Amino acid sequence: MKEPCNECGKLVLPETKKKTGGLCVPCIRKIYPMWPNKNTPKESKPLSKKLPLDLHPRIKEIIDKELEKGNEIEGVGVWPRPKSNNVYLKYRFKLEHKASGIQYHEDHDPHYLIAEYFAHETGDTVLCSIK
Ligand SMILES: [Zn+2]
Repeated sequence: MKEPCNECGKLVLPETKKKTGGLCVPCIRKIYPMWPNKNTPKESKPLSKKLPLDLHPRIKEIIDKELEKGNEIEGVGVWPRPKSNNVYLKYRFKLEHKASGIQYHEDHDPHYLIAEYFAHETGDTVLCSIK
């Protein structure tokens, strides 16, 4: 039996509400854009380590600086922003990056601790686990 989301009223499975604290997945994503779902990297196509050619230049800059400091590219995937390039780093960010149009965000969901920089323009993202 589905129950209404506390935010928008859309019907959701009780299991989902238990996990999100009463919200549907689109609503929890507004608060936690990284909220995991069925399309998490494990189930999407195998990760490529090659950087996409259309990667946002400032995101690319951040990745280049991280690689210089010894970080590594874990892979490129479709999560958390399926329409954009998502680059996963193997280690935590080694530097603090500041660039216009780039936002830093940490997700403190206890099951998915992650830090990310993303470009407002394109949604391109570079992220690392902060477990
Ligand atoms: Zn909702």
